[in-house]
Amino acid sequence: MYFVSTRGKGRVTGAEAVVQGLAEDGGLFVPEKSPSVSAEEMERMLAMDYPERAALVLSKYFDEYDKDELLSALKEAYSQFDDGDAAPLVKVENGMFMLELYHGPTCAFKDMALTVLPYLLRKGCDLVGIREKILILVATSGDTGKAALEGFKDAEGIRIMVFYPDDGVSKMQKLQMCTQEGSNVNVVAVKGNFDDCQTGVKKIFGSEECKKQLAEKGYLLSSANSINFGRLAPQICYYFSAYCDLVTSDQIKAGDKVNFTVPTGNFGNILAAYYAKKMGLPVGTLVCASNTNNVLTDFWKNGTYDVKRPFYKTMSPSMDILVSSNLERLIFELSGRDAALTKERMAQLAAKGSYSIRAEELKQIRSEFFAAYANENATVDCIYDFFEEYGYPMDTHTGVAMSVAQRYEEKVRKDNPKAEPVPMVVVSTASPYKFPQSVYYALTGNDVKDSFKGIKRINLLTAMKVPEALKSIRYKPILFKQTVSPDKMFEEVLKFVS
Ligand SMILES: *Cc1c(COP(=O)(O)O)cnc(C)c1O
Repeated sequence: MYFVSTRGKGRVTGAEAVVQGLAEDGGLFVPEKSPSVSAEEMERMLAMDYPERAALVLSKYFDEYDKDELLSALKEAYSQFDDGDAAPLVKVENGMFMLELYHGPTCAFKDMALTVLPYLLRKGCDLVGIREKILILVATSGDTGKAALEGFKDAEGIRIMVFYPDDGVSKMQKLQMCTQEGSNVNVVAVKGNFDDCQTGVKKIFGSEECKKQLAEKGYLLSSANSINFGRLAPQICYYFSAYCDLVTSDQIKAGDKVNFTVPTGNFGNILAAYYAKKMGLPVGTLVCASNTNNVLTDFWKNGTYDVKRPFYKTMSPSMDILVSSNLERLIFELSGRDAALTKERMAQLAAKGSYSIRAEELKQIRSEFFAAYANENATVDCIYDFFEEYGYPMDTHTGVAMSVAQRYEEKVRKDNPKAEPVPMVVVSTASPYKFPQSVYYALTGNDVKDSFKGIKRINLLTAMKVPEALKSIRYKPILFKQTVSPDKMFEEVLKFVS
């Protein structure tokens, strides 16, 4: 399987795509041809456990990796998850299911991929014949940072440096990152928002001068953000797994359509669902849920992606993003894989903060996706109502998704009252305990002074088990305290590898 850049330059293997992270021309690597999962393979997948299902899907993209070794790596990665099932599907009401992806070491869905990426990268280096050490730079809106640090801590030949927006992440997210142990890790706050962090990191990736200076120190850059296809690919697997679980629990028949609602920030998770569909998974509508930073909703409304707008800090910080990097992969597909056009649109976005797609492209994405957003009030109401009604606590990101999913269901019923209902799977991306103050507020209308008190009160209220990983950071020392301005990021990188 080969990968090509969305901006036209380069054709590489899966291993090379993972090692490089970003294509040389600044584009993102996409599979040259979409692999497919046959009906016979789907049938076989039903009897498999999560790592086996994931191995079947992943080996289609990474066919140069040894299959047995890949399976062992996946078993190892997902053994770190609670309860033996990495991606349990929970039925909450008729036709509505939650895909819980937060049972990993850092309590957010980023663990689904970041427990696997170290293997894909290390093995990728072997396959490509890389001798240099690897430096992973991460821009995070909160959850990727911690999951990447956990995934890569003490990995041989690899160093990892995480940049997060000062004041742009929740207290718990910040604590999780700043107490990170490991001999090869560094965490730095950036004055600015997530887009400033992401732009800063992308600049370093795009600079020959930076790369040269790092090479002199024996380092090669790579990425653990969802711009890296090695991050996206493991996310494709849980859509297949959820579908299999629906079939084996007799909720649907093999071949029936299923809808998914995904709380969206950088457009990685929902893009993975789109890839699953392209591989043959029977998906109906993909519902793209945003928070008050509703740049994607507007894009679906009028075909113009316009980031010239206020940036809001919300209670779902991992979705506080204006430039959704992975949308580039979707518009590349939409344009009929026109790399020149994609390149031009990305140049427009960088130069004037917007680009537009053609009417027929807009029609196409509207036929496959439904996009809407939930503001803060709607999110709070939804979390409250859902707990009242079903006793099911959700985190704030999942609350956004559920609110939008309900709106979508209403619209479908109104537009087409006689239509056979299609099951909806809402992707639950974080543990409620990861955002304890906001979740406690949503559940009770009351504020609570600190995160750990919030955890205690949510536990009293919901009786949901508190993840060990979150309990224990209370007593860990803060190891990282530094804040830099966006233009000083590379200086810090150089200090770290010197
Ligand atoms: C990262 C994240 C999201 C957004 O996912 P994207 O792949 O960036 O769209 C949503 N919810 C949580 C909890 C996250 O950590």
